[in-house]
Amino acid sequence: MSKDYYKILGVERGASKDEIKKAFRKLAHQYHPDKNKEDNTASQKFKEASEAYSVLSDDEKRKQYDMFGTAGAGQGGANSGEGFGGFDFSGFARQGGGYSSGGQWEDLDLGDIFGDFFGGGNRRQQKKGRDISVDLHLSFSESVFGAEKSIRLHKTSVCDHCGGSGGEPGTKMDTCPTCKGKGKIRETRRSFLGSYSSVRICDTCAGRGAIPKDKCGVCGGAGILKKTEEISINIPSGIDDEEMLRVSGKGEAVEGAGVGDLYVRIHVRRHDLFRKEGNNLVADIRVKLTDVLLGSDYTLHSLDGDTTIQIPAGITHGEILRVRGRGVPVGSGKRGDILLRVNVDIPRKLSKEGRRIVENLRKEGY
Ligand SMILES: [Zn+2]
Ligand SMILES: [Zn+2]
Repeated sequence: MSKDYYKILGVERGASKDEIKKAFRKLAHQYHPDKNKEDNTASQKFKEASEAYSVLSDDEKRKQYDMFGTAGAGQGGANSGEGFGGFDFSGFARQGGGYSSGGQWEDLDLGDIFGDFFGGGNRRQQKKGRDISVDLHLSFSESVFGAEKSIRLHKTSVCDHCGGSGGEPGTKMDTCPTCKGKGKIRETRRSFLGSYSSVRICDTCAGRGAIPKDKCGVCGGAGILKKTEEISINIPSGIDDEEMLRVSGKGEAVEGAGVGDLYVRIHVRRHDLFRKEGNNLVADIRVKLTDVLLGSDYTLHSLDGDTTIQIPAGITHGEILRVRGRGVPVGSGKRGDILLRVNVDIPRKLSKEGRRIVENLRKEGY
């Protein structure tokens, strides 16, 4: 999904910074959301132009873009989960305020949005650490009954010693002199589109609003550190293959901000006998011809262990036998059922004696 930023702004590839600025200014005025409130195309155009400008106006990003296209400007890691597709213009509004009618931008911060978007250099302004996703394989039985699983993840986590405060436990916390304890800094900047004010997270205290007298001896004051963490995951009963579980607050941690979430994609191994249909466990069983003619006991290797069930005399091929309460747990001690479809083994060839017996049956009218 490579975009042609030059084309979007309507400039030559070799355009000077000034030409790029002029082109963007023109488009921004034309498609500014204030003037085109109900027009989605305009807001889309404005968004595209802003994106293009944010890249082409920055020497480093422009160089990357010229070399690699939009792929080159994405976040470093392959599993970062954030690319250009993730750009969300509504982020402007979410920053607070949005557009005021006078053409002034309030409470929005291009640097913040694009910083998040491009990664690098702006980590302090992230609101939350990254989400992590992992795959987890379960046996069929674990998926039916639920399980307590644990996984080990090497990731940036909150420091246990200081609980993320960055200070030695019990140390005095001083109010941050830079932000006066607010954790955020409001700045008003002038730009060619007018002045706008922005709020960014305080660099001095990483948004905590306080600075410890004694820095944490384990994490060195960051409140976070790379470590291997053992995370236990509660698998609910009856979970399906490909289902996704969210473990909140177990993603990556960032300094002075929230922790991302952990997403666990479930993979369920197939079972030799059973498959799950809703709260029932379904299986095909093979029984002998004489078992259905005369009735018999049948040993079922259920997930709870072996259990003997009755094959009633006269049951027919394809009929369903229901074993109540032995299926998927559904809460308060209740369970779904086991449904067994009877497959009668019809002998391909009879012995001489067998044939004589069956011929006698036929004579009796069966
Ligand atoms: Zn501060
Ligand atoms: Zn610490």
